[in-house]
Amino acid sequence: MPSVCIIAEHQNGKLKKSTLNAITFGKDAAQKMGAELCIIVMGHHISGVADELKSYGVSKVMVGDDPLLENYTAEGWGYVAAEAAKKCDAVLVGMASGTTGKDMMPRVAVKLNAGMGSDVVGFDGAFFTRGMWAGNALATIEIMTPVKVVTIQATAFAAAGPAGGEISVERIEISLPQAKTRFVEMRETVSQRPDPTEASVVITGGRGVNGADNFKIIERLADILGGAVGATRAAVDAGWVPNDLQIGQTGKMVAPDLYVAAGLSGSIQHQAGMKNSKVIVAINKDEEAPIFEIADFGIVADLFKVIPEMSELLEKEKS
Ligand SMILES: Cc1cc2nc3c(=O)[nH]c(=O)nc-3n(C[C@H](O)[C@H](O)[C@H](O)COP(=O)(O)OP(=O)(O)OC[C@H]3O[C@@H](n4cnc5c(N)ncnc54)[C@H](O)[C@@H]3O)c2cc1C
Repeated sequence: MPSVCIIAEHQNGKLKKSTLNAITFGKDAAQKMGAELCIIVMGHHISGVADELKSYGVSKVMVGDDPLLENYTAEGWGYVAAEAAKKCDAVLVGMASGTTGKDMMPRVAVKLNAGMGSDVVGFDGAFFTRGMWAGNALATIEIMTPVKVVTIQATAFAAAGPAGGEISVERIEISLPQAKTRFVEMRETVSQRPDPTEASVVITGGRGVNGADNFKIIERLADILGGAVGATRAAVDAGWVPNDLQIGQTGKMVAPDLYVAAGLSGSIQHQAGMKNSKVIVAINKDEEAPIFEIADFGIVADLFKVIPEMSELLEKEKS
């Protein structure tokens, strides 16, 4: 039977949230293409992740567990993903459009002789939809090769929930060819807070926060709510926060349950990364700021008054 293959991403033994969004895309695509849904997971000592993947109503989990796959390289993972997709008789192979997906999937497409679409937000069984110009236009594309490869805009799809069904688990037995690249070192930003792409609450500050020190009030609110801190490019470019917190077209795409936008205007490039959030609360002194056009709740006020007040009230509520 042909299959739709979704490549899973995980970090520190935990499945990434964007993989669950990609699974939702995969389930829908499999139904439309009369295919089964197969998940490919790679790494080393990943039985926990592979077990978790069984609980989302997929047909098959293909596991590539090897010391050589412990650390991601586009060459190693891309090779195994393409070989596993061939074994699954894949007609469509997808991965969430994060750093890894963008890095690896073009390589997978070449190995499968497949046409590729990036940042896909919809599929009707024949045509794919993808955002263009910071999400201001939608393009309809057709991938005309028998095997199609896509990266999936995770925020466009709900996260897959637990589901039952008959699931087979297969080991991917592949000997890797002589590698031309090797993993040397990973320098991770160590933070007690969740990553904005994984968090259900994101508190974002913009140019209006006006300084690195002032970001403490954003951080305090994020910590009270167990959320992540985000920033606009203006705040990142000013050097107030590290660039891995940037939300937007050239930063991270997020769709949390709650997004608080404080002291930011809501440029199209920023909106491209957060407009799919479930509830948006905007705090801005300027009632004409474009962020209010997409906000569910708007507070026209000084953030230096509102955010500390919010934090105090929430702390009282908690204690
Ligand atoms: C190719 C390209 C890619 C880009 N990618 C991104 C991206 O990924 N992410 C991104 O964010 N930007 C991106 N940008 C930049 C984007 O165009 C804007 O310049 C940026 O988003 C503006 O950031 P801001 O809203 O913080 O600042 P501003 O637009 O200057 O807005 C600051 C806001 O703060 C309000 N304010 C000031 N003081 C207070 C206060 N005390 N209390 C309440 N409100 C206050 C002001 O009223 C104003 O609305 C990109 C631009 C380009 C050209």
